[in-house]
Amino acid sequence: MNHIVETQRKYFNTHETKELKFRLSQLAKLEETLKSNEKLLYEAIYKDFKKSEFDTFVSELALLYSDIKDAKRNLRKWARVKRVGTNMLNFPAKSYIIPEPLGVCLVIGAWNYPYQLTLAPVIAAMAAGNTVIIKPSEIAANTSAVMAKLINENFNPNYLKVVEGGILETTELLNQKFDKIFFTGSPQVGKIVYQAAAKHLTPVTLELGGKSPAFITEDCNLKMTVKRLVWAKFLNAGQTCIAPDYVLVHKNIEDQFLELLKSEIEKEQFSIDNKNYTQIINDRNVTRLSGLIDSNKVCYGGVVNASERTIQPTILQNITFQDKVMQEEIFGPILPVISYEKLEDAINKVNEHPKPLACYVFTNNKLQKNKILKEISFGGGAINDGVMHIANSKLPFGGVGNSGMGSYHGEAGFRTFTHYKSILEKSNLIELSLKYYPHSEGKLNWIKRFMGL
Ligand code: NAD
Repeated sequence: MNHIVETQRKYFNTHETKELKFRLSQLAKLEETLKSNEKLLYEAIYKDFKKSEFDTFVSELALLYSDIKDAKRNLRKWARVKRVGTNMLNFPAKSYIIPEPLGVCLVIGAWNYPYQLTLAPVIAAMAAGNTVIIKPSEIAANTSAVMAKLINENFNPNYLKVVEGGILETTELLNQKFDKIFFTGSPQVGKIVYQAAAKHLTPVTLELGGKSPAFITEDCNLKMTVKRLVWAKFLNAGQTCIAPDYVLVHKNIEDQFLELLKSEIEKEQFSIDNKNYTQIINDRNVTRLSGLIDSNKVCYGGVVNASERTIQPTILQNITFQDKVMQEEIFGPILPVISYEKLEDAINKVNEHPKPLACYVFTNNKLQKNKILKEISFGGGAINDGVMHIANSKLPFGGVGNSGMGSYHGEAGFRTFTHYKSILEKSNLIELSLKYYPHSEGKLNWIKRFMGL
């Protein structure tokens, strides 16, 4: 590991990766590599958890392609040296900010959207002019292998290198000194990464998880709400970091909501028998998820096919914050429904828990929408939709508190992998003597005047 990091550092120090022409050509090469190997990418992800081509394109590859397109289109603007004003005290001078790459970066990916979550940060790091060591999640073994094959066969390892492995290899990597670590995964492992980074004072971005609520107020457009909620929740069999984890629905519409929910799930064919319904990633998660289904509270679904690793979309009713399903991030196709009478109480309950990665508000009531947006701190979210904020690259994506720190996508991704070097360039034409000895009352007054104090 040490050798890989050191050869990347040597290469970074040649300054080649800083050239805009180089960055653009490598981004184009990555695009071409992915596009010409889509078949391999589809096969690998199907082997890992039977994710369909349609879902893989829409929720993984399309986002990567649009990230590359966005970076290619805007790179010159993002990387431009930015002139800023100079204050009177520094007269005569000019001031500017130079965006510079951080250096050798480590990107650690998660398994649930293996391509997108591993390669989107890599695209941002490349656009910013860094070298990257990439550690995909070993849990999705086939997608990890295909990324290793495609990157390691097509790119200079001193620039981009995939290192496969689990805890052992990641621990070894984390012992090295990086200039940036970008981690996607659970808050528990996030803490390990943060601690390891602290030893070298390495800056980190942590994209973590948590329990993301969906508020459904009395006056929402219920039909539309249910349609969008069902898609957002059961896409990828609920294994989405920003999936609505649970629903807070107003008591007066709860029955109607539950009826519509059941029929929408059936209409959308999110069914255990549908060959396009994504599998649960491994047996451990099937067992964990089965343990969250309280049979006394199942209002729909609840069927687990352990040998196929599928779990039917399941709705749990009459849930309280004390239920087992509310003690951890679900990360699967189980939707607990909690009803509330006073919005205030529902907000307070959410605020008693760690800050969520996402929050969704289905409402037509402006006051209630604004109240939730003001009173709950969360990473990002949507009004009258679920998950889709991730698909707008102009919205920085990331968590807050327990759900993470830092953000990426679009320009936010470029900024995440960039240091902004501030320069004051002084003119040699004149030199005001105010700051020099001997000090005097008059000089102090001038300084105050220059500083507008
Ligand atoms: P995880 O934390 O178990 O694993 C993530 C990565 O960390 C993997 O590459 C793994 O090899 C490595 N890792 C695991 N244990 C480690 C250890 N002890 N030391 C060092 N490295 C270790 O997470 P996961 O199961 O892959 O993903 C699920 C979690 O990730 C959920 O909490 C989910 O919400 C979150 N997530 C967040 C986002 C986001 O964008 N914020 C996206 C996807 C998933």
